[in-house]
Amino acid sequence: MDKLKKLQKNNLQKKSSSKNKTPQTVDDLNPEERKRNLEWTLILDSYIENSNDYCVFLYERHHFTNRTAINNTNKFFMSADAHCKFKLCTCRLHAILYENSRLKINYFGKIVHEIGEVHARPMRGSRREELQKFTMLGATPAALYLQQLKLMSTANKEAGNRNVVGSSRSVIRKISSEGNVKLRRDDDLEKSLRQLKSEQTEKLFPGEQIPGYLQEISIDPLRLICFTAGGIAAYHKFASTIPLSWDATGGIIVNRKKRIFYYELTMSSLDKGGSSLPIAVMLSASHGTMDIIHWMNCFIEKYKQVYGYTNPFPKPPVIHSDRALVFLLAGIQVFNGDETMDRYIERCWRIIQRVATKRDLEINSCSFVSWSFYEKRQSFIWHVVDGITC
Ligand SMILES: [Zn+2]
Repeated sequence: MDKLKKLQKNNLQKKSSSKNKTPQTVDDLNPEERKRNLEWTLILDSYIENSNDYCVFLYERHHFTNRTAINNTNKFFMSADAHCKFKLCTCRLHAILYENSRLKINYFGKIVHEIGEVHARPMRGSRREELQKFTMLGATPAALYLQQLKLMSTANKEAGNRNVVGSSRSVIRKISSEGNVKLRRDDDLEKSLRQLKSEQTEKLFPGEQIPGYLQEISIDPLRLICFTAGGIAAYHKFASTIPLSWDATGGIIVNRKKRIFYYELTMSSLDKGGSSLPIAVMLSASHGTMDIIHWMNCFIEKYKQVYGYTNPFPKPPVIHSDRALVFLLAGIQVFNGDETMDRYIERCWRIIQRVATKRDLEINSCSFVSWSFYEKRQSFIWHVVDGITC
């Protein structure tokens, strides 16, 4: 529906619904109604920018018709006056919207913007919600800011008009944090997560033995383990033949109190050049071998619930990781039957020196490639794949 028509329709609806309560001022409206009340500014903005993409307008007064029925006539529906926010700018506008959705904007004055002066209209209502959709899908405020910057027109840039991105970076940051709050189901973190978990159970793989995504919640220390039945099935089918990789990063989750690490176990793409497939994820406030072991044990436990306790848990031929020792230690423990680091290194050494015993080669083990070792060629830990040096 045309935006102007929508504005007319909303206004009429508001009029009829407020007949009984008749609020005296805007402050009498509840916050939701007050928010909707300002939607007309967003609608006018979207039309004004087509004829003046330089000025940042502040609305002074506006007036709606008193008529309760709107026809497709040339009669007055609403008017608004605004002036530009820039210090030296004398540009003003008078906009008139007619019942037939025709909009007439008269400009007065002269556009004068000093270099370096920047302004933006406040981001409100549906505009805020529109931006929050991106952050709720996982875009960081910084990425969203850059994305919005790309949408700025040349006129915007030259004139210091920052309507598209907001007056400062903190505006988008604030908007995205509001979006995150909306995702919270309860003020209490644990309650909120449990509710999210039960919602996911009903929506993601509901018919499977392991439904949902969030599988384990621990609040103190914070540890969230996430994977789906799809991840388990992919692991079952491909893990014994396809290399895996795992990594932890501390920079993804913003938390001012404590650093939260994001762990991901990933499978290489089945298509050449395609993106890799995340199998299991963990968010944890601590970064230790035991955290990784616990994460993997949870995954193994659920795997066995699906594929039976008698079947062996598939071992990947090789797992790539960065130089973090915790991954190496955890990997040896989880995948190589509680082999110790010392014994693993000794076994690797014997295999490389071609003096491996029959037992060394018999162990159905998984190998670990640590990229930094590889780059520096400092160690032999990185390159044994079931007895074949590479
Ligand atoms: Zn101006």
